[in-house]
Amino acid sequence: MKAGVIGSPIAHSLSPLIFKFVAHRLGQNIDYQAYEVKLEESKKFFQELKIDNSFVGLNITLPFKESFLNDLNKISPEVKALGALNVLHIKGDEIHGFNTDVIGIQKTFESRKFLIDSKKCFLFGAGGSAKAVAYVLGKEGAFQVTIFNRSIRGQEIVNQFSLLFPKTKWNWISSFNELPPEKISYDLVINATPLGMTGKDSGVEFFHSLEKIPFSQNALAFDLIYTPEETDFLKSAKALGLSGIGGIGMLIDQALASWKIWFGELINEHALHQELEAILKGVLKLRQNQKSIYLTGFMGVGKSKVGLELAHLLGRTFLDTDQLIEAKAKSSIKDIFSNFGESYFRDIENSILLETLTFKNSIIALGGGALIKVENQHVINQSGLLIYLSASENILFERIEKQNLDRPILLNLAVDEKKQKIKELLMLRLSVYQKAKIHVQTDLLNAQDVVFKILAAIGENEIQESK
Ligand code: NDP
Repeated sequence: MKAGVIGSPIAHSLSPLIFKFVAHRLGQNIDYQAYEVKLEESKKFFQELKIDNSFVGLNITLPFKESFLNDLNKISPEVKALGALNVLHIKGDEIHGFNTDVIGIQKTFESRKFLIDSKKCFLFGAGGSAKAVAYVLGKEGAFQVTIFNRSIRGQEIVNQFSLLFPKTKWNWISSFNELPPEKISYDLVINATPLGMTGKDSGVEFFHSLEKIPFSQNALAFDLIYTPEETDFLKSAKALGLSGIGGIGMLIDQALASWKIWFGELINEHALHQELEAILKGVLKLRQNQKSIYLTGFMGVGKSKVGLELAHLLGRTFLDTDQLIEAKAKSSIKDIFSNFGESYFRDIENSILLETLTFKNSIIALGGGALIKVENQHVINQSGLLIYLSASENILFERIEKQNLDRPILLNLAVDEKKQKIKELLMLRLSVYQKAKIHVQTDLLNAQDVVFKILAAIGENEIQESK
């Protein structure tokens, strides 16, 4: 079964990762891909989709949210009101359109137990997502919605939604001098502009203006932006005593809502949401600081397999120091050990390790003894992100036997001797491995489980900025 997301540019979309995780967690086999489609090719893409019966649906992102409206067999009331969609559901020879951003926004308020009914709301922006926010505010019975936007698009939303949701008082302002003269205390303020988003214009100065808005006690600030986690808008709001919430929950909920449209109810949605939140925060942190990830741990624990999976998922380069050593020495590790001894091997390993310190955005699997040199632990912890993969002695033994590789340190040993050697080496190296910032226990997990656990752990831990 195929699904995917189309847009342009699409390379940084988090949707493939979200859907890969959900499919993995639910044990389903879904081929979800990101499709880069140029504007002039979108009609052709849509026509082909109609005759390709392998797709269950698609997520639609910029610039196509308004493109297919007239080509669909059915659209939801939200799509009709907003003139934009983000989900296609392919049902036999029919294609239906939905807008699950609306659900993502509703669920964000629900997560804070924040009832919109009768609230006074202040909304920055009048673009596509601001309109979806305004729709939720109107539908849920807000008392007042003030839209702050520099262009007339604010007035267009006011005109449309005054008719659709007449119970709500709507007004558009383009400067703070136009704030309603009667002293309104706003209960909710939302940023639906890109100001303060990583890679876009700063919002520091713009959101100083929050001081000019009168707020009620317990007012909530919601920023749709999810990177950085703590935005300029949220910082300003918190400085004024408001509680704040970012856009990551909305991103996850709009995706889970797509899944439900395609495949039906989700069990354990709350747990999935929480896991996804940690994973996405991990991915976003890695994108921001671009550190390389070093995987350490005992031989056989699965560093190479996990490293490859992780690199594939993140679109990063994978390197295995043992392979680099073999390439540099033009000899197998077994031969290096038997011909030149362990200390010669460790010297080459050390020089390779130092070379990797200049790499960014790589996933590097370290040999099991690579961190024995104390200075190596230090430099790797400084310039990269060190992650310790652990497993119990028995599991390590099983994995080593299954891999059937010639491990120089265990060569020519009987089963009991091998087990004893593993135990001894583990005891010796444990304190070294435990210097890693992040530790993932892998006993009952497969490589994909470990990859997602690593990302979640990165999301949940403080990670030093790159030097
Ligand atoms: P649009 O481009 O459709 O709208 C942007 C709005 O911001 C417009 O109203 C625009 O004003 C205003 N704006 C842009 N630049 C400035 C500026 N320098 N000063 C003042 N106003 C400005 O964007 P979207 O609605 O699609 O997205 C807005 C934000 O929401 C993005 O940062 C996006 O990342 C985030 N988002 C988050 C989602 C999530 O799942 N968490 C989902 C969708 C969006 P004007 O009309 O005058 O041009």
